[in-house]
Amino acid sequence: MHYRLLSLTLFSFPLAAQTESSAVSVISLLSGLLLLSFIYLFKLKFDLHKLRKSRQAKKAGPLGFYSLHDDISGLPNKFFLQQQLEQLLLRAPEQQYSLLLIKISRFEHINQLLGHSNSNLVLAQIAQRINDQLKPAEQALTFEFRQQDPVRLCHLGGVDFAVWLDSSDKPHLAEYLADNLEKNVPEAMIVHGCAVDYRLLCGIAHYPEHGSQLSELLERAYLAQQHHSVLQGKSQVFTADMLHYTSDRLALMAGLRQAITDGQLALYVQPQIDMQSRQVLAGEVYLRWRHPTKGLLTPDVFLALAEEMGVIYSLTQWVLNEAVAMLATLNQAQLDCKIAVNISSKDLLHDELIDSLEQLFEKYQVKPQQMMLELKESALVANPEKAMSMMQRLHRLGVELALDDFGTGFSSLAYLRQLPIQHVKVDCSFINELHKSDMHSAITGAIIDMARNLSLGVIAEGVEEVEVEQKLLRMGCSRGQGFLYSRPFELSGFAVWLKQWQQNETTAP
Ligand code: C2E
Ligand code: CA
Ligand code: CA
Repeated sequence: MHYRLLSLTLFSFPLAAQTESSAVSVISLLSGLLLLSFIYLFKLKFDLHKLRKSRQAKKAGPLGFYSLHDDISGLPNKFFLQQQLEQLLLRAPEQQYSLLLIKISRFEHINQLLGHSNSNLVLAQIAQRINDQLKPAEQALTFEFRQQDPVRLCHLGGVDFAVWLDSSDKPHLAEYLADNLEKNVPEAMIVHGCAVDYRLLCGIAHYPEHGSQLSELLERAYLAQQHHSVLQGKSQVFTADMLHYTSDRLALMAGLRQAITDGQLALYVQPQIDMQSRQVLAGEVYLRWRHPTKGLLTPDVFLALAEEMGVIYSLTQWVLNEAVAMLATLNQAQLDCKIAVNISSKDLLHDELIDSLEQLFEKYQVKPQQMMLELKESALVANPEKAMSMMQRLHRLGVELALDDFGTGFSSLAYLRQLPIQHVKVDCSFINELHKSDMHSAITGAIIDMARNLSLGVIAEGVEEVEVEQKLLRMGCSRGQGFLYSRPFELSGFAVWLKQWQQNETTAP
């Protein structure tokens, strides 16, 4: 614009020169204009230089914009948070604070669907939504204002964000805020005609209770967040026992839920033998997990995790279904043999256990008397009244009940008398060493006598050697199972194994 004005002025010069009287004034006008244009050009160059300088500062300067902000969302970054905390904790170290760690989960789907640069736009949009939700949270640390709106969300990088809260007056503020964010931020987004879905996962650590350094608090909030992800319940606050969870264990927990739906569970079986008549009385089923990378896993690796995660009942449901289906198969093949299923203490307290069993017996046309449930003494500890009433209902249904791992717990004789059980199982740890240890021999002898007095059957588990079998028979215990007869094998082969066993026994001398 200014250039055009200048050129017009120069063009009009020859016309002015024709008038002699105005020659002096023209020359002075011209020199004035030249001076003006020099001043203008100099200013323009100076402005451009300033602009370039400020861009450089945003890009690379040690304290420029992008050294304190994330380049995708434009939000304050971890370095900014660290700086603010140093000042804050110097000013008011005695306050209670909470670190709220927020992760956008399932974002990889958005990435796959939209490609990298588009998904960055979505990420920035979600970040904005989180920050908007934080507007009323005045206890949250405000990094800066943008168009009078507070910026309270820190972008740690990737899909991880953080909020720092002053929780001195409200110890549960972080949990409240986390639940609010998890509930209100995610909304269905349609991008390029595709619905994209994501969740927020929060983890919380408190200052100074869980750490005084940002790095420590981040680590602990992260552990809490991982627990939340696995347990799928509410947002989690860090607790000391989370430190025992290695990332390996957490990964296993995450896979367990999948195992049920992806058909990775398997059942093995081990026969229970009448050691006198050599008849097979039952088959005890054992759960296995065919892990996609770790191979065949036994219950000691995953059962406790399943109980903690609240998926044990789903596992048991699967086991019961397979077990009752196998009973139907055995019936069809006219093989008279019971199936024993291990039941966790949590299952026994589950209200639907009995209804679901009844439905299974109905579905497969199997008699409840063909099934034995094995319970550990620990099943009676958490809620003895309920456990007892459930056992009585199972007993009335016709299912046989056995007390598992007997001798390792703390059952009193008086207590045992009240239980509607038909068998006690003596744990492997006593039976294995029976022929070598006087103490084990004495304990097993006492259990056998006591059971006889109470008219209960005794099942010895872990019979590995003929000497042990013979000693058990002499002590009056005729029912056993263990590697001596068979190692656990796949349940699908049970009918064939039974027929083979019967054949061998009838042809044996
Ligand atoms: P348990 O009920 O006491 O089962 C006996 C364990 O000893 C089994 O281990 C079995 O494979 C093993 N065993 C069998 N015979 C012998 C032997 O002669 N010598 C030795 N040393 N061991 C023998 P497993 O299959 O690893 O099961 C461990 C525990 O996991 C079981 O102890 C049971 O409490 C639990 N469990 C197994 N399957 C299930 C299930 O479907 N549901 C529930 N809730 N628990 C299960
Ligand atoms: Ca058992
Ligand atoms: Ca045992």
